Amino acid sequence: MAGKKKEIQLQTIISNQDQWDELLLTKGIVVIDVFQAWCGPCKAVQNLFRKLRIDFSEDNVLHFAAAEADNIETLKPFRKSCEPVFLFSVHGKILAMVKGVNAPLITKIITDLVQEEREIAAGEKERAEVEELVFPEEGSEGSADEAVEEEVLTYSVGIIKPDDVLAGRVEEIKKKIKDAGFDIEADEERMLTEEQIRVFYARNKEEPDFDAFVQFMMTGPCHVLIITKKEATGAIPQWKDLHKASDSGETEEPMKLPGLTKPESLVNLCDVQDSVEDASRQLAFFFPNFHTSEVEHQVERTLAIIRPSLLKERRQSIMQRIKDDGFQIAMQKEVILSEEQVRTFYKEHVGQDYFPVLLEQMTSGPTLVLALTRENAVSHWRGLLGPKTLEEAKENPESLRAQYAIENVPINQLHGSSTPSEAQKELEFFFPKEQTFALIKPEAVKTHKDEIMKKVKEAGFSISKIKEQDLTREMAAQFYKDHKGKPFFDELVDCMTQGPSVIMVLSKENAVEEWRHLMGPTDPEEAKKTCPESIRAQFAHDILSNAVHGSSNIEDAVRSIKFAFGELDAD
Ligand code: ADP
Ligand code: MG
Repeated sequence: MAGKKKEIQLQTIISNQDQWDELLLTKGIVVIDVFQAWCGPCKAVQNLFRKLRIDFSEDNVLHFAAAEADNIETLKPFRKSCEPVFLFSVHGKILAMVKGVNAPLITKIITDLVQEEREIAAGEKERAEVEELVFPEEGSEGSADEAVEEEVLTYSVGIIKPDDVLAGRVEEIKKKIKDAGFDIEADEERMLTEEQIRVFYARNKEEPDFDAFVQFMMTGPCHVLIITKKEATGAIPQWKDLHKASDSGETEEPMKLPGLTKPESLVNLCDVQDSVEDASRQLAFFFPNFHTSEVEHQVERTLAIIRPSLLKERRQSIMQRIKDDGFQIAMQKEVILSEEQVRTFYKEHVGQDYFPVLLEQMTSGPTLVLALTRENAVSHWRGLLGPKTLEEAKENPESLRAQYAIENVPINQLHGSSTPSEAQKELEFFFPKEQTFALIKPEAVKTHKDEIMKKVKEAGFSISKIKEQDLTREMAAQFYKDHKGKPFFDELVDCMTQGPSVIMVLSKENAVEEWRHLMGPTDPEEAKKTCPESIRAQFAHDILSNAVHGSSNIEDAVRSIKFAFGELDAD
């Protein structure tokens, strides 16, 4: 590329139309970061670009540029864009565009383009006549998005009522929903609380038989669904209100049975709300962990691993660095991995020459596994890590793998998921969705029930089962059977049987540990000192009436759930 442009380390900077036109004379592939003068080229992709440059250095066809939209007429449509835009040109034609730091997509496009160039160079393929990409019209907000986004997903919460669940009609109803062109993203069987029912059906609260309806909804488990539809517009498809049909005043049948009113409509299959605001509010209410990039700003999660040597030597420093880079730690687990676990987690690497060292390292002491969240967590964390091998990482001294290399250890000390779907799999590996048994003790049911329930929801647990019940002495003894014979045992049983408890099955990744963390230390005095945000710090009366109970391990959770609810919940 021509000499008058400033050649920085990685990208050729293009700051006017002449330079742009000249850039398009470049043979091969040019990856162009279109940037705004006020924020400069995108830093988040630079490690990725460096890595790709190394990966494809032998092909000698890949170039990188950064072009300032403000001064280049051709790039006018991108001047108002507040997220990074990447263009890909081959032999002077812009063929693809990516909005946002979508590392997997950028990597795939570049890989495919290089592969194609290889085939052309090897004479295996002719250079095809291709249409150049047409930039979106400037002006209307989001016009650039429409060029890459074909459809909009809309979400809604649907409820299949207890009578249908009881009659075994769930699968049939779900099939009809799908046949009508919808997708079901989530399906959980739950006992709804009175509050959940009143919130979901808030618009029907003036109806004469509303209280009877609420009672009816609590007679058994419902299925709560997240229903989605792909559409060109953002409208939720004609949900109608079923309850208008139930105004007939018949007391024996608080709800008309689905199917009797408007057979052609989805509404006859399950209950849904009919506005976007309702839908997103309810989504948050019933599925606090369900993130939809369309509904709210995307906060992504990735899996990070701090290997044993680094954890031992520089734990503080790396943890601080993670926070300084804007990540939140959503979950963490310190584990000594077994050989079996390492082999499963790294199954793609098992045959490689470095695997024995990796295995030896990974089983040599405690590993810290983290679920990190922030916008674009996956590519951001990957970007910070830098190249895989220490040799390559050291060429890039800014990279975390270079900065946190450990002397005499030949492998990098940090892991990060490579794509969002890998992240999901890896997170499930270390933080599988679990159920735990939780109980609000009688004294707290009387005094702080609502506040505790609020904390449960805010922490992202879903309540799979819930009931309020007076424990018998036998039940209390069963839940605390490990403590039989201890000096406080009888008093503990007294305190557990002095009134109704709220007993629940809570579901979440890592639920057992997370619930114990939210409860806080057994002794409320200690809780106030070390864990002031915890339930026991805030709502415990004393060490016996310390607000809540939770299983201390999976086996205990399974046993207690079985004992309290008669079976293990299926999801
Ligand atoms: P946790 O409830 O945190 O799992 P434990 O399983 O050790 O705690 O104990 C069960 C319950 O017994 C505690 O919640 C507490 O109410 C009571 N308890 C535990 N230790 C003592 C103690 N030293 N004195 C009085 N009560 C205790
Ligand atoms: Mg315990």
